[in-house]
Amino acid sequence: MIIQLNQQITSDDYKQLLSILNKYNFNTKKVRTQLGIYLIALGNTEFDIRIIGNLKGVKDVHAVNDKHKLVSRKWKTSPTSIDLGDNHYVGGGDFSIIAGPCSVENEAQIHVISDFLKEKEISIMRGGVFKPRSSPYSFRGVGIEGLQYFAHVCHEKNIKIISEVMQEEMIQPMYPYVDIFQVGARNSQNFNLLDALGKIDKPVLLKRGISGTIDELLYSAEYIFSGGNEKIILCERGIRTYEKAYRNTLDLNAVALLKEKTHLPVIVDPSHGTGIRELVEPMTLASIMSGADGVMLEMHQDPQNALSDGQQSLSLKQTGSLLEKINATVTLHKKM
Ligand code: PEP
Ligand code: MN
Repeated sequence: MIIQLNQQITSDDYKQLLSILNKYNFNTKKVRTQLGIYLIALGNTEFDIRIIGNLKGVKDVHAVNDKHKLVSRKWKTSPTSIDLGDNHYVGGGDFSIIAGPCSVENEAQIHVISDFLKEKEISIMRGGVFKPRSSPYSFRGVGIEGLQYFAHVCHEKNIKIISEVMQEEMIQPMYPYVDIFQVGARNSQNFNLLDALGKIDKPVLLKRGISGTIDELLYSAEYIFSGGNEKIILCERGIRTYEKAYRNTLDLNAVALLKEKTHLPVIVDPSHGTGIRELVEPMTLASIMSGADGVMLEMHQDPQNALSDGQQSLSLKQTGSLLEKINATVTLHKKM
């Protein structure tokens, strides 16, 4: 059950509510987010919510039997729109396109790609500066200095940026620069990191784990939400299956199902989802048809010489031609 409290609930009213919930054997957890104060009550499934519905200090009560409560669509039926500031939104009916290199490599690269995105009216650029790499000998990113010029160049053009945070201690140093914190597949169940991201007020893009189930993804989102941060974007990026013909198996069932289960926006990363440049276009278009709220694409000014993930990165020209098809497909999907 989710009980929304009035912002001004008195301590006496709160105590009275708790004592009733105790009497009915509920375990409770108080959650204060940017938008509200909620009491999550777990345990008793037979409770008549009218017992507390009219108490002073109680704004709203919902019997939500889903395991993931705050992210459930059974509680909040309208799709959530994440406000990135300066009139940029993700979800809530807008289709978002995030594009950029796998890794930030140098400042000249950021100029070239952000100029291209600006011209194409793409307002969110991706780029990792701390890279989770399978091999310790691979390029591991340009670090905070790279994030500084990435942010500086993009913000001057009113482009928002997203970059991956791999550990709790890096949240504060990255905070002034990023507009969206990315949690990568490898950290999808790093609960300390998720707890810490629950305490900030910037949006988080949470990727599905490499072998993560839908339930696990929603629980991870619930960690962030119940920690106090409602600004969560989910990302399907492919899962590991027995199929070795491509890097990952992009699970578009997940998009359709997540859109049923949660009010949070769901975007698709067809670059990591396939690992093969030629598959990015068809799977991007399929993502739109599956109901995704957006896509995140890896692109590079010279994919053959990219320091990471060149094999799945689109050139500028390929990105441009895909953007036209995305626009046509989004229009088609809206008419359906
Ligand atoms: C990335 O987006 O750069 C990345 C490392 O993705 P994932 O965590 O999905 O592997
Ligand atoms: Mn990558």
